[in-house]
Amino acid sequence: MSKKYKIWIDEAWRGPWLWPVVACALTFDKNNLPSKKLLDKINDSKKLSEKKREEIFEELIALSTPGLNKTPGLYFGVWIVDNYLIDQVNIKQANKEAMRRALIELLRKINKEDIDSVLIDWNDKYKFSELEKDPIYVIGWDGKVLEIWAASIIAKVFRDKLISTYSLLYPDLNLENHKWYGTKKHIDYLTWTNKVTWIHRISYKPVKKILEQKEKLLLHICCWPDATIPIVDLKDQYDITCFWYDPNIHPKSEYNKRLKAFKKVCEIEDIPYIEWEYDTETYFTETKWLEVCPEKWERCKKCYDFRLKRTLEEAKKLGIINYTTTLTISPHKDKNKIFETWIKLNKTNKEQFLFLDFKKNDWFKRSIEYTKINNIYRQNYCGCVYSKKN
Ligand code: SF4
Repeated sequence: MSKKYKIWIDEAWRGPWLWPVVACALTFDKNNLPSKKLLDKINDSKKLSEKKREEIFEELIALSTPGLNKTPGLYFGVWIVDNYLIDQVNIKQANKEAMRRALIELLRKINKEDIDSVLIDWNDKYKFSELEKDPIYVIGWDGKVLEIWAASIIAKVFRDKLISTYSLLYPDLNLENHKWYGTKKHIDYLTWTNKVTWIHRISYKPVKKILEQKEKLLLHICCWPDATIPIVDLKDQYDITCFWYDPNIHPKSEYNKRLKAFKKVCEIEDIPYIEWEYDTETYFTETKWLEVCPEKWERCKKCYDFRLKRTLEEAKKLGIINYTTTLTISPHKDKNKIFETWIKLNKTNKEQFLFLDFKKNDWFKRSIEYTKINNIYRQNYCGCVYSKKN
């Protein structure tokens, strides 16, 4: 009597850069085949919509469930190998492990003696110690064989269910709409956000490369001497670009002195910078009627606001997700008022403001030492015409 079971194994998600590979081993019972209606529905999973796959999956699960006076028409085993094992052993071995464990799951449901053959649509030529005979490998079966289609549908629906769970954790990745193969979009996303997640396969070269990169940071420079120590301390951790935006330094000759000194610091520290224009008009418009306010009060708040908004615009333009300011370093600035502005901006923007209080760790004192050692000009008032008078 011929043996009862031909087993087929297929996998899903071998190619993407994140999370698991899923394998399914499956066999139909020759004496208890699915209805013609179901057989007609089963197709190459790539040609089926997610909804259709789910529908067929439900019917396959029902077919595999024993009932009163009813033996299953289908037996299957599924196994998931996560990205941690993929990173340890490589995708080829991880895929083998997923297939082997799916097979073991299936062998718990049928007699090994009843196996006629095991067939795999791949060319890796894995051998499984659990089997007496080696599997048969042929490439291209997935375009023709119903059982391979069914195995693929089951593996893919398991994967889709995992994806919806992880989509809740990583909404930015938009996992449900993109399967996250090594596309340009994926590389751009990771490069921009520097967010290699714990579901990524970090042994994959492009992912590893991004992981090793420093995160980008746009650092707003309020007045150049205050920029010195923040640059020195942050440059080990971040790939910094400085953003010079001090439109209201009065008079213009003072502005030029400070700008020159700022450029000298960037040169010493080898940091790229962007120089924004001298724009007193914005300042005087924004601070109209607030001329008499003492330092740290409403006039200064306006001053922080328009500098910070401009910095955010620049971060967006450059595609840099992290941004912050050196405004907090000055003992004459109120860090809470500065942070209030950023909290508002953070609520409505994807870019992230880093709440760094540069008054800590003696940064102000160290910046004074830095300017002395490097013989760099240091101002003695904040910058605007009012602070100069005071
Ligand atoms: S004192 Fe400084 S922070 Fe305040 S308005 Fe003048 S320049 Fe801006």
